[in-house]
Amino acid sequence: MHDLLIVGQGAAGLAAALSAKELAPKARIAVLDRMPAAQAGGNTRWSPSNMRMQSLQEVSPHFEEDMAAASAGRGDPAYFHTLAAQAPETLAWAQRQGVQFQTMDYFLKAWPTRIQPVGKGAGLLEAFVQSARDKGIEFIHGCQAVQLLTASDGAVEGIVTADGQRLLARAVVLACGGFQGNPDMMREQFGERAATLRPISPGTAHNDGEGIRMALAAGALASGDWDGMHIEPVDPRSPRPAALVLAYPYGIVVDQIGRRFFDEGGALVHETWEAFSRTVHFELPGSVAWTILDASAQDIPGYANAVRSEVPPVQADTIEALAALIGIDPGALADTVSRYNAACIGDPARFDASKLDGLSTAPGFAPGKSNWAFALRKAPFLAFPVAGAIVYTFGGLSTDLQARVLGRHGPVPGLYAAGEITGHFYAHAPNAVAVMRALVFGRIAGRNAIQTTHP
Ligand SMILES: Cc1cc2nc3c(=O)[nH]c(=O)nc-3n(C[C@H](O)[C@H](O)[C@H](O)COP(=O)(O)OP(=O)(O)OC[C@H]3O[C@@H](n4cnc5c(N)ncnc54)[C@H](O)[C@@H]3O)c2cc1C
Repeated sequence: MHDLLIVGQGAAGLAAALSAKELAPKARIAVLDRMPAAQAGGNTRWSPSNMRMQSLQEVSPHFEEDMAAASAGRGDPAYFHTLAAQAPETLAWAQRQGVQFQTMDYFLKAWPTRIQPVGKGAGLLEAFVQSARDKGIEFIHGCQAVQLLTASDGAVEGIVTADGQRLLARAVVLACGGFQGNPDMMREQFGERAATLRPISPGTAHNDGEGIRMALAAGALASGDWDGMHIEPVDPRSPRPAALVLAYPYGIVVDQIGRRFFDEGGALVHETWEAFSRTVHFELPGSVAWTILDASAQDIPGYANAVRSEVPPVQADTIEALAALIGIDPGALADTVSRYNAACIGDPARFDASKLDGLSTAPGFAPGKSNWAFALRKAPFLAFPVAGAIVYTFGGLSTDLQARVLGRHGPVPGLYAAGEITGHFYAHAPNAVAVMRALVFGRIAGRNAIQTTHP
């Protein structure tokens, strides 16, 4: 019998294990993960783990207002208030577990301050796993949880594994991610094309919704936007994880027939990438689009950082030649570029990549471009293919501020959850919040779970 079983060895699961062990050093605590040790860590392992913090001591300005805006007013203000209030002390606690933090080196100049663990998500995992081993937390790898064991009163008292073992525990924390790795659940929520959506990293696909399904079967309520996902634009030619192509605000994006279809400069890149990538995957023929740039894009500060693909762009000295190389009708692309160029009526000297510069296309031009609209004239012209890659799903379990999983009659006794497996996200992914919330609510889950069993 374990005092606490934690399902999932990502940021949330490890924070839960370490915080529980801190309160009850003699407790028998195990973290189990379906993957072998070298691959455990799900999304966290591959994530830059940027956090919406102004510094280690304070969250970014307007944090709670931004959360309300990202969720279109549907997020629970108390959840995000708790997150904001506890983030600084949680990061200080993570430092005491051996995690170091740095101000991040990110994609573009136009980007708010973020901090991240040294070594990114992999560095965070390494420090946490080391600390957990030092403190005597057990790890059970290659162990997939498939069912919760419940008593007649509904209290959770352990899990069943894929090979039929029954592992008993006084409490269980579920921290095993969303359902993006499950083609059937994806199809059910997002339609047929969801089954062909590429995962942004190898660890992304390990989260297949098993934890969500077993908790729902044990009486948990759902929360979050089941139609929501975080998805980012990548170069489909690259085998690299997260081969992002984020230079599109400084050029145009066209579909396979050479037409623009959205405002590439509508906002900062992290505010447009999700809707853009979703349109590409779910609405465009072939689920691919092309970012078209001219040579001047390469001079923009941050360009090299914004293009994370190692595959060079397709290049040509004329738009027609470029179109021919990427399989778009040359006349159609030349027409799109020349109409776009004619609509770029602002003074190009006002171009400023570091902020929303208001350099827009002429009124009435559709689709308009609100910022960074300058004519594409300088050869060579460049083209990157862009496809959507899923990062995580929003739909998950309903939890309260103590990270207890909620059922129809209140908290499900003995069951806690944190991280991506929990709902709480609606409409748009709040940028740089997923790892923070995994840490904050993972820590809360571990503390509360062990306090209930070791009062
Ligand atoms: C490329 C990339 C970039 C990202 N960038 C950022 C960013 O900058 N900022 C940010 O905040 N977020 C970012 N994210 C998202 C963020 O990293 C994740 O949402 C977060 O790390 C999730 O942590 P977690 O502990 O909830 O789940 P995970 O880290 O995904 O861990 C879940 C674990 O559960 C295991 N598991 C799954 N099912 C079972 C089962 N049935 N039984 C046993 N084990 C199971 C998995 O193997 C995995 O180890 C990014 C993600 C990726 C991939």
